[in-house]
Amino acid sequence: MGIELFEKAQPILETIEDNEFKAYFVGGSVRDYLMDRAIHDIDITTSATPDEVEEMFDKTIPIGKEHGTINVVYNNENYEVTTFRAEAEYLDHRRPSEVYFVRDLKEDLQRRDFTINAIAMDRYYKVYDYFDGQRDINQQRIRTVGNAQERFSEDALRIIRGLRFQAQLGFSLDEATYSAMQDQIADIEHLSIERIIVEFKKLIKGKNVSQSYRNSLNLSLFDYVPFFKEIDMSETTITMPISFEIWLAILMAKSQSELSLAILKLSNKEKSMIQLYKKIILELPNVNSKDAFRIFVYDYGEQNILEIFSIQSLLTLNNLAISSPLIVNAKSINEVAQQLPIHERKEMNINGGDLLNYFHKKSGPWLKEVLREIECAIITNKVQNVKKEILEWVKDNVKI
Ligand code: ATP
Ligand code: MG
Repeated sequence: MGIELFEKAQPILETIEDNEFKAYFVGGSVRDYLMDRAIHDIDITTSATPDEVEEMFDKTIPIGKEHGTINVVYNNENYEVTTFRAEAEYLDHRRPSEVYFVRDLKEDLQRRDFTINAIAMDRYYKVYDYFDGQRDINQQRIRTVGNAQERFSEDALRIIRGLRFQAQLGFSLDEATYSAMQDQIADIEHLSIERIIVEFKKLIKGKNVSQSYRNSLNLSLFDYVPFFKEIDMSETTITMPISFEIWLAILMAKSQSELSLAILKLSNKEKSMIQLYKKIILELPNVNSKDAFRIFVYDYGEQNILEIFSIQSLLTLNNLAISSPLIVNAKSINEVAQQLPIHERKEMNINGGDLLNYFHKKSGPWLKEVLREIECAIITNKVQNVKKEILEWVKDNVKI
């Protein structure tokens, strides 16, 4: 599975080797290939320095040159080519204070986090596995390269990465690795939130998230992470893969206090999706009439509601109330969505100006309220979406 991606990248290894340097596939792609899992991106490791790599290829981007990474653009694909490196001292349990380039593959593999990620493969598919990564793949085990205590104290992100790989692969954590996680968990507080979030996003949608989430709770991982430490995480449980946005929405819906997402440095799109899902979760139980349901589908969108609907059992497990199954079910969500006369405010055949003209009244907060009333009346089929009829309806039904 996925061998095509390696085939496509072959010429890059070839070019590097033609220049008398060594080059190998490495990291997640090799691990996933050996496990027969789909491969998404290919990382290449080489004895050539970044300058030497730049010289060999026509199109390169120096995305992380100081850390040894050059992006090689080949046949419109991007390949990360990173020079073999070793890492000097670590300060504060995060990121090495300096990296230095080496010419030896084994040294490069040695600085990698887990044995399953420390396997290299040359262009003839010959595997270089100095740390028994293949044995750990076969035994489904996540184990650090070298002494776990040392590796976690160098970079505490590896603790979260270990849990993330457990969620993705369904492997168990090697005993010494888990025990070092317990000892060193508090170092997580020195990490930047951006690095943590990258791993959380992968962890929470891993197929084996259930076990990994329980381990995270047992390790008190969340006590050391901004935002999450404000929440009583032990009251939460995640038993199926979900998106990061839905996870955060569940946490926010459960929390009694107002939480600010700002500290997590998410994109605006992510923040607004989280708020939207949170509203759906909180309002779902109050949808108890056909009309309320129509407005609900209009306001929040069929797809978003279906997303939340599909995790109803998880909401129940987290003591979040759910809606009446008589009104809200997958079929009814779809039916209502199909029948909506309009899908957004822009489609209303009336605007504020029309109302001001018709009622000869000055603009004010009333206008917004009336427009919302009209919107709801159209959605619930109390009035047709025709200007003349809407004005009549307002005159007869709304106090202005
Ligand atoms: P994915 O399939 O999610 O891309 P991956 O194993 O490729 O997983 P990456 O985060 O892409 O993970 O990192 C690529 C490789 O770099 C890893 O396989 C590992 O060898 C090494 N690596 C990444 N982060 C660390 C770290 N914090 N400490 C040590 N090695 C690391
Ligand atoms: Mg990767």
